[in-house]
Amino acid sequence: MNQPPANTNPPAERQWLTPDPLRGQPALVTGASSGIGRAVALALARAGADVVVNYAANAEAADAVVAEIRQLGRRAIAVQGDVAREDEVQALFAQAVEAFGTLHIVVCNAGLQRDAPLHTMTLEQWNTVIGVNLTGQFLCARAAVREFMRRGLDAAVSRATGKIIHMGSVHEVIPWAGHANYAASKGGVAMLMKSLAQEVAPQRIRVNAIAPGAIRTPINRAAWQTPEALAELLKLVPYQRIGEPEDVGQAAVWLASDASDYVTGTSLFVDGGMALYPEFAHGG
Ligand code: NAD
Repeated sequence: MNQPPANTNPPAERQWLTPDPLRGQPALVTGASSGIGRAVALALARAGADVVVNYAANAEAADAVVAEIRQLGRRAIAVQGDVAREDEVQALFAQAVEAFGTLHIVVCNAGLQRDAPLHTMTLEQWNTVIGVNLTGQFLCARAAVREFMRRGLDAAVSRATGKIIHMGSVHEVIPWAGHANYAASKGGVAMLMKSLAQEVAPQRIRVNAIAPGAIRTPINRAAWQTPEALAELLKLVPYQRIGEPEDVGQAAVWLASDASDYVTGTSLFVDGGMALYPEFAHGG
C-alpha cells in the first residue's frame, strides 16, 4: 500500500466541517435497516457519502433506507448478510467494493440482546450475542482493514487510509445484571477497538467506537414506550432526555470525517451523562 508521508500536520487555516465532508468516501453500515444503523447511514449520506446498507432479514426496511439516501442524491445499495458468518461478511464486502470501487468508512453497528439471568442463560443465548456483537465486529473490522490496505492512502479524498467505527455501548463500562452476555460483548468490543487502533495506526487507519446510552430504538422499546418506563429510565440520564438515533448519527459523521483526524482508539460516549454515576449527583 502507499506509505503515508512522515509529517503531514494539517494547515491551521483548514476548514474541517464543510457541508459534505464525506464526499467521495463510500461507507458501509451493518444492521442499517433500523434504529441507530439507519440513522448513521442517513447522516453519512447527508455528509456526502455513498452508502452500503447491510441488513439481516428485513429487505423492505433496507430498501426504504436506500430510497431515502438516493433522494439525497447519493448512491446506495442494500446487501443482505449475517455479520456473524465469515462467508457472508466476505460476500458483503465484495459486493460493496464491486458497487463503489472501495470503502473508506465502515460502521460495525449490527447488534442484538438475548437477556437472561446468568443461572438460566443458555449457551445458545450466550453464543448468539457474542457471535453477532463481538465476532461480527471482528469479521467486519478485518474485512475493512484488508480493503483499506489493498487500496492504500488516497490523500485527495481523506487524510486517513480508512475509518472504522465500532458500535459499543455504555455497557463497556457499566455492568448490567441480567445482561451479562451483552455487557461482555461490548467490553470485548472496546478492547478489540483499542488493540486494532494501536495495530493499524501506522497505516493511517483510524479505529474508534461510539458508546451510546439510552437511544430510542426497537432494541430497548420496553424502556421507553410507556411514560412510567421512560420516567424510570430518565433517572439514569443526567441530561434528562432519551437519546435519538440522530444523536449517534452526528457522532458517526464526526468520527468518519477528517475533523477527527487525530482521534483513534477512543470511545465517544453519546449518553446524556449516563456513564457519570448519576446517583452520585445528590450524595455519595
Ligand atoms: P436495532 O435492533 O434497531 O438495530 C440492530 C440491527 O442489527 C437490526 O437492524 C438487526 O436486524 C441488525 N442485526 C442483528 N443481527 C444481525 C446480524 N447477525 N447480521 C446483520 N445485522 C444484524 O437496535 P439499535 O439500538 O439500533 O442497535 C444498534 C447498535 O447499537 C447495536 O450494536 C446495539 O448494541 C447498540 N446500542 C444501542 C443502544 C440503544 O439504546 N438503542 C445503546 C447502546 C448500544
